[in-house]
Parts: sequence; C-alpha cells; structure tokens
Amino acid sequence: MTAPLLQIRNLRAYYGQTQALYEVSLDVPEGGISTLLGANGAGKTTTLRAICGLVRHEGEITFAGQDISRLDTATIVRRGIAHVPDGRGTFAELTVEDNLKLGAYVLRDKAVVAQEMERVLTYFPILRERFRQQAGTLSGGEQQMLAIGRALMLRPKLMVLDEPSFGLAPLIVAEIFRIMRRINSEENVAILLVEQNARLALELADRAFLLQTGSVVLSGTSAELQQDEGVRRAYLGH
Ligand code: ATP
Repeated sequence: MTAPLLQIRNLRAYYGQTQALYEVSLDVPEGGISTLLGANGAGKTTTLRAICGLVRHEGEITFAGQDISRLDTATIVRRGIAHVPDGRGTFAELTVEDNLKLGAYVLRDKAVVAQEMERVLTYFPILRERFRQQAGTLSGGEQQMLAIGRALMLRPKLMVLDEPSFGLAPLIVAEIFRIMRRINSEENVAILLVEQNARLALELADRAFLLQTGSVVLSGTSAELQQDEGVRRAYLGH
C-alpha cells in the first residue's frame, strides 16, 4: 500500500487555554475524496485549521512524506495544500480576476498565471462572465466557486474545504459538488471536505471520518459509514 498523502496522528489543538481537539488521527490518500463529519463544535473546522497551521496544535501532521506540523501557513500552501475556509475568504472589494490572481501568488511567471487562470475558468464558466465584477457583488454560489477556483490556482495536491454548501440552494450545491468531483478526477487533486450535510458528503467522498468532541470516533469507506446505525440515526435521519 502506498503511503497516504496526508497523515495525521494524535492531533491536539488549542484556542488559548481551551482544548478543541483531543485525539485526531486520520489518513487522506492521494487523489481521493475524504470527508470529515460531525456535529456543531465537534472540531471539524479546527482540524482543517491545524492542517494549515492556523491554530496552535501538537501531534504529527505529515504531508507527501514530510513533517509539516511546525511550518507556517505560507510554507504549507507552497507545499501544495490549498484551504477554502468557511465564509469563503474571498476579497469582496476585488474583482474576480484579482481574486484568482491572488490565489496564484506563489507563481511568478505571468504566462503560467494566465494559463492557470484559463484552466480554472474552464471549470467555472460563470466566473469568466463575471471576470471584472467585484467579488462582493457575486451570488453566494458564485463566491463559493470563486473561493474554490482561487484555491485551484495554486495547483494543489490537496484541497481542504470547509462547508462549501453553507447557505446555498440545493441546485447550486449539486453543481458545486459535480465540479469538485471533476476537479478531483481530472486534476488528481485529493480533497478533504468538511460538511454538515452528511448525506451529500458521503455521496461524494470515498472515505469518511466521524468527529465527536475533538476525537475521531469512527472511520471507514463512505459505504461503511452510510450503513453504520449510529451514523444513519444521528446524521442521515433514517
Ligand atoms: P461547526 O460546524 O459548528 O463549525 P466544527 O466541528 O467545525 O463545528 P470547530 O469550529 O472546530 O467545530 O470548534 C471546535 C471547538 O472549538 C468548539 O468547542 C468551539 O467552541 C471551539 N472553538 C472554535 N473556535 C474557537 C475560537 N476562536 N476560540 C475559542 N474556542 C473556539
């Protein structure tokens, strides 16, 4: 078996004196889609923040065979992890074009940036139509597409997404998930997805982890979690 792209062992994270993660261990395989499920406050967002070096943490985080647990966020991004945070994190005052260019800040060559931009716009044709519009004037779905597009500009090996469906209508969510699946298969980008909507997340992902109060309590293939009685009752509503 090949080593996982991202390997987390005994991850603990803290906000000041408050411990938010106690015991998070998980493996994200190269090129796969994994999802992190759990109730409000279980620690899903904090796990993504710890991976990206955005919260104080202890424990092992290995990416592409290298220890990244003590690196700063900018270096982690350069190694190939792109974060699409909750709330999307796009710059409302800037145009779509400038938001995408910001995503490519690690690329110096203008021709390469233009090429990456073209590649991203093929996934999100609506962003081409909105190219010179301020991000703040886009619909929620378009802003989410822009956030994913910006992350894709980095040519990441792993994209971590925090609740991309938040506040969006079901049809838009379905479209965004379809695009995520395409990006995953065509670009071979691994995805680690945090989602409140467990049903959708388990349909998209091939592996899943269930977090409860800061610890991973269950992991397996999506099919295994879909069949788990506790998961069905608490998260799938049947
Ligand atoms: P949600 O879906 O509600 O965002 P989550 O699973 O993503 O939930 P986290 O946001 O990771 O959960 O929160 C985990 C724990 O850490 C919670 O107990 C939360 O109250 C706490 N926490 C999160 N952010 C902070 C912060 N900035 N300061 C203090 N405590 C925090």
